[in-house]
Formats: sequence, C-alpha cells, structure tokens
Amino acid sequence: MREILNKLYDTHNLEMDELVYLIENADTKIINDIKYHAKALTLSIYGNKIYIRALLEFSNYCKRNCMYCGLRKDNEKVDRFRLTKNQIIESVGKAYDFGYRSFVMQSGEDEFYTKDLLSDIIITLKENFKGIAITLSIGERSFEEYKEYKKAGADRFLLRHETADQKQYEKLHPDMSFEERVRCLHDLKSLGYQVGAGFLVGLPNSNSETMAENLIFLKNLQPHMVGIGPLIIHNDTPLKNYMNGSVEDTMFFLSLTRLLLPKAMLPVTTAVNTLDKNGLEKGMLSGGNVLMLNLSPPEVKEKYKLYENRETKSVYDLDKVNERLKKIGYEAYIKRGDHIDWSI
Ligand code: SAH
Ligand code: SF4
Repeated sequence: MREILNKLYDTHNLEMDELVYLIENADTKIINDIKYHAKALTLSIYGNKIYIRALLEFSNYCKRNCMYCGLRKDNEKVDRFRLTKNQIIESVGKAYDFGYRSFVMQSGEDEFYTKDLLSDIIITLKENFKGIAITLSIGERSFEEYKEYKKAGADRFLLRHETADQKQYEKLHPDMSFEERVRCLHDLKSLGYQVGAGFLVGLPNSNSETMAENLIFLKNLQPHMVGIGPLIIHNDTPLKNYMNGSVEDTMFFLSLTRLLLPKAMLPVTTAVNTLDKNGLEKGMLSGGNVLMLNLSPPEVKEKYKLYENRETKSVYDLDKVNERLKKIGYEAYIKRGDHIDWSI
C-alpha cells in the first residue's frame, strides 16, 4: 500500500489494478493521508483562492430520460420554465455589477434554444459584460453547434461523463450511448473549450472497478474541470427506491482526482452541500477549489429540481460563504479564474 501511495504522490499516476487495490483497502488513516496530500497539492497550485462560479439555470425542459434526474422528460410533475433572453441578461448583469466574472449557463437538453438563439444570447452577454467567462452546461450537441457557441464567445463546457462503465452508462441513460458522450467531450476539447467531465458516486451497481475506471477515464481525457457528486434520490424517478451516494466516498474520489489531475478545477458540488451541512469545508479540505453559487431568479430556483432538497446558496450570500472559507484558511475569488494553463 505504501508503495502505491508514494507512486500516487510522486508521479500522479496509477494503473487500474493499483487504483482498485487502493479503493478496496484504504482505511481511515490512509484516506486521511490522501486527503492531506490532495489539499497540500491544491494549495501549491492554486493557493488559498476558492473560485466562485455564478450558476444560472435557464431552462428545466429536457428531452432526455436519465434515470436518476428529476428533470427527465417523463417526469410529468415538473413545472417547466424557460428564461427569456432579457431575463438571462438581466440576471447576469446584476451579478456582473456585484463583481462576478465567471458564469455557468445550465439547462436540460432543450431544443427551444436553437443554435441561433443561444449564439445570440452568448454574443450579447459577451458584448455587454466585458471580461466574463461563459461556461455552458447544456448537454450533447453536434460538433457544428459546439463550434458555433465557441465562436459566439463561450469559453468552457461542462458535460459529465457520469460513469465510464459503458454498460452502466447505457442502462442509466435510455437512448443515449457512451460512445456519443465521449465524442462530445473530444469535440469540445478539439474546439478549444476548457472542458469539464465528471461522475456520480453511488450509482446502482457501481463497484471499485467502476470507480477506478472513472479515474482512468479522466486521466486519459485530461479535462480542465471535474465535477464529482453523490447521487441523490429524486422521488419521481425510476431510482426512487435506491439510496443516496455517500459524501465520505465523494470526498475520497475528489482527493484521488486531485492527485491524478493536479491542475484540474474541482468544484465542491451542490450535491455534496445538499447532503452535508459541512460539505463546503470538507470539500475544500479534500482538494476542491471551486464553488458554484446560484444566480437563478428565486421564482424558478425551486423548479430546477434535479434531486430532493437541493441546497442552493445565492451569489448574493457571498459574505456568509467567505466567512466560512476564511475560518479554514481560504478566500472566495469571483473573477474569471481560468485553469492554470490557460492564461489569456
Ligand atoms: N442537462 C445537462 C445539465 C444539467 S444536469 C447535462 O445533463 O449535462 C447536470 C448534472 O446534474 C448531471 O451531469 C448529473 O450528474 C447531475 N444530476 C442529475 N440528477 C442527479 C441526481 N439525482 N443526483 C445527483 N446529481 C444529479
Ligand atoms: Fe436532462 Fe441533464 Fe437531467 Fe439528463 S441529467 S435528464 S440530460 S437535465
């Protein structure tokens, strides 16, 4: 075990069998050692800044049927909404005046926002609000569409791979294929986006091999960001009788991801903060360095229900968040905050 750990700390690389061994045999002492190293590595690369992203959920319409997600097409109980171009500009403008420069635009896979409409929104945002970074999180699209958004001014794209186990992926995502997911991620990289992948912890039938596969997948893909969150059950989905993923496991995989991809931007995800009121602190002390705060208008926030009891902190609660961060030696940073290899 010591040998594996030293290899991980020194070379930031492990083989599949070593990862499986580590995942299966790490006791509390080893897990704490891994966390300690992950945190120290984060500090040595990004210092004590926590990069804040302002998250705007602009539509909860979705044409997909991901088994775990409350916004899936077949969930008829969802009160669907879409924000207009003006509402989007107004929300971003308010946060811009407050000082934010990094925005994530997230939605279900909603074709109402055509290539032209979404490009127009991105162009307008970039013209009106100088110096912002725009991250899209809108699901699978064609190469051409991704290219158009990049041209319009989108900087980054979040598309979790969810699980790198192809069989598990295809069971959980009816009418979708893992191959297509990977195609999207490669297209996004080749178009020059800063790309975020990531996976869910605690999916049905996950085991140590599945999780090791997730880490190897990331190591090969080399994304700029990785979102890791516990599965949280939504009562109106086919997974309603399963259990939530574990926060402790999520922290462990966050640390391992930091050690394998030292420079990655790693959010402490909303799902972690939903399951654990000390998630923020735990996540940062495990190697996280990003936090998303919510920008969506209050009247739609409730409707963007991916899972039960989703905890959302508002961008306008920055002082409270910063107080908590300062207590553990960190501070919030609300400018663009690019990946360290990405100075523009
Ligand atoms: N439709 C886009 C973006 C919105 S969903 C997409 O799928 O990429 C954003 C993320 O929410 C997904 O990648 C998924 O990992 C996460 N998510 C959805 N349902 C969840 C649940 N029940 N528990 C935890 N995370 C969930
Ligand atoms: Fe739609 Fe994304 Fe939910 Fe899947 S995870 S149903 S694509 S919103």
